[in-house]
Amino acid sequence: MTTAKTPASFSELALIQPLLARLTELEYHQPTPIQAQVIPSVLAGRDLIAGANTGSGKTAAFALPMLQDLFTQKNKENPKGSQGNYVTGLILVPTRELAKQVADSVKSYAVHFNGAIKTVAVFGGVSANTQMLALRGGTDILVATPGRLLDLMSSNAIKLDKVKTLVLDEADRMLSLGFTEELSELLGQLPKQKQTLLFSATFPEQVQTLTQELLNDPVEIQLQSDDASTVVQRVFNVNKGEKTAVLAHLIKQHQWRQALVFVNAKNSCEHLADKLYKRGIEAEVFHGDKGQGYRTRILEAFKSGEIDVLIATDIAARGLDIEKLPVVINFDLPRSPSDYMHRIGRSGRAGEVGLALSLIDYEDFHHFKVIEKKNKIRLEREQVEGFELDETITQEMLEANKPMAKPEGTGKKKRKKKGLGNADVWLRNS
Ligand code: AMP
Repeated sequence: MTTAKTPASFSELALIQPLLARLTELEYHQPTPIQAQVIPSVLAGRDLIAGANTGSGKTAAFALPMLQDLFTQKNKENPKGSQGNYVTGLILVPTRELAKQVADSVKSYAVHFNGAIKTVAVFGGVSANTQMLALRGGTDILVATPGRLLDLMSSNAIKLDKVKTLVLDEADRMLSLGFTEELSELLGQLPKQKQTLLFSATFPEQVQTLTQELLNDPVEIQLQSDDASTVVQRVFNVNKGEKTAVLAHLIKQHQWRQALVFVNAKNSCEHLADKLYKRGIEAEVFHGDKGQGYRTRILEAFKSGEIDVLIATDIAARGLDIEKLPVVINFDLPRSPSDYMHRIGRSGRAGEVGLALSLIDYEDFHHFKVIEKKNKIRLEREQVEGFELDETITQEMLEANKPMAKPEGTGKKKRKKKGLGNADVWLRNS
């Protein structure tokens, strides 16, 4: 397990000038811990497996050394390089939005290569023809979702036999979304000799199998969870049927610049948006029944701050990078405890302090305890002033609601978390 210290600057990581210049422009003053550990290993040509939380800066961790390798190789070789429908660096991601987001980041890091590195994103839900055209003449870095990539391969728009580096981003999510067959088909088409980088927030059995089959003497990188955890979590007991009123009250009271609200079903998004509208709050919705054009538009508008409140299902829970999102609210609890961590990771990105609120009524009490236990967290149950629990909530119910998991580590950590969980946080995020 690597435990290198975070270097003070990117230049200590032996990155080349065009990348360093770009990082200065982007105001990346210092590598994040994952970048400090991943970049040297990738530049040294090693395979690696990294446990990285969303928001930890992992895109740059793999993209920067990949770009550097590709650029230096291209300069050494005949500048015309390979021809045809080749791909040199392949990044597989689980969702369309993530494909676009990762490709945009790669392109942004590469601006000072003046077009020498071609990056393309391919994903479903939009026309394949435009993507085929973009792939003509070969692609240096391809960011793809598995299904669309297979389609493009079957129509000979692309071949994977020249791939030198493979990145599997959010490998756990890819497998949980049912991409197992597609992945094994794709992996079978890749050359044996290549560098493989695997990123996963969690390590279920399927990911471990993939690791054994795919990686050659990998460097293992696991961040301490405290490194990435800048999200203050709070949980509120709410009477059955009062969640909408509490949500509207909190939004109005705190005047957050923006809020991302999670629900569990597509129609709940619309339903909640209507109810908020009647209470004077405008919200947009984001879920899988919406067309890709709509989804892209809404996400861009949310990212640029045009939308204040976005109500979403878990398709927004993974990997999306919304700059400085002040608050994430669990209106419905996620079914899976790991999705809880992914949802709250939308806030507090890259060192910003974020806030994650969960509204729970008595039907959620037990499930929230499970979420706490699985994620090794323990939160004080709070109530919102003016919406205190009524007499239908018995002492017995409240007992059942007491947190049961002891937090990991020492009292020191506990105090640190508690210290952040005070009223200042409301202000800081308002
Ligand atoms: P990621 O985990 O790759 O989605 O990155 C999360 C956010 O952190 C993105 O907005 C990045 O632009 C930003 N970021 C990545 N690395 C750094 C860095 N070294 N310094 C400041 N911001 C960063």
